[in-house]
Amino acid sequence: MTSVDTISRNLEDNRTKVYKKDYSFFNLGSVLALAKVSDAESCQCKRCQANMERLAQFSETYPDLIAMGEAGKRNLEDGLDDIFQHLAKEHGYSRKGWYKSLYGAIGLGVGLLAGILAALLASDGNGRVAFAVAATIPLVAGYAWGGRKDFLAEKAGKIV
Ligand SMILES: [Zn+2]
Repeated sequence: MTSVDTISRNLEDNRTKVYKKDYSFFNLGSVLALAKVSDAESCQCKRCQANMERLAQFSETYPDLIAMGEAGKRNLEDGLDDIFQHLAKEHGYSRKGWYKSLYGAIGLGVGLLAGILAALLASDGNGRVAFAVAATIPLVAGYAWGGRKDFLAEKAGKIV
């Protein structure tokens, strides 16, 4: 069984082998974050157990993968994304700020439609004001709702 400590140690030990900017560019800190969460879920989930092994492997081989060029880099990125997607779909995790951008985008879409509709229905000369008011409300509401969902997810320890 791979432990979070082993992964953390591997990550640190190999850090000198890669460029500083590559470490942050490939988001290698997330290997540890994903490991902590996968470890917590692994008593209930075989896939998370297997993902712990994959993360351990990444923590050992990431300098080689990055040095390898495109194929290696893609392998690393796709692997980490796959592990995150599993945590998101099966265990309800999300990234920091994810709900805010999701509901913000929905609010923007709804706001534009509402704004256009309001502008069409408004009496002559009030179109712009009607548009601005009708468009702003869903946008602000979307951000607020998303921000609250992010806050609750963070409080529940569901952010990776
Ligand atoms: Zn799982």
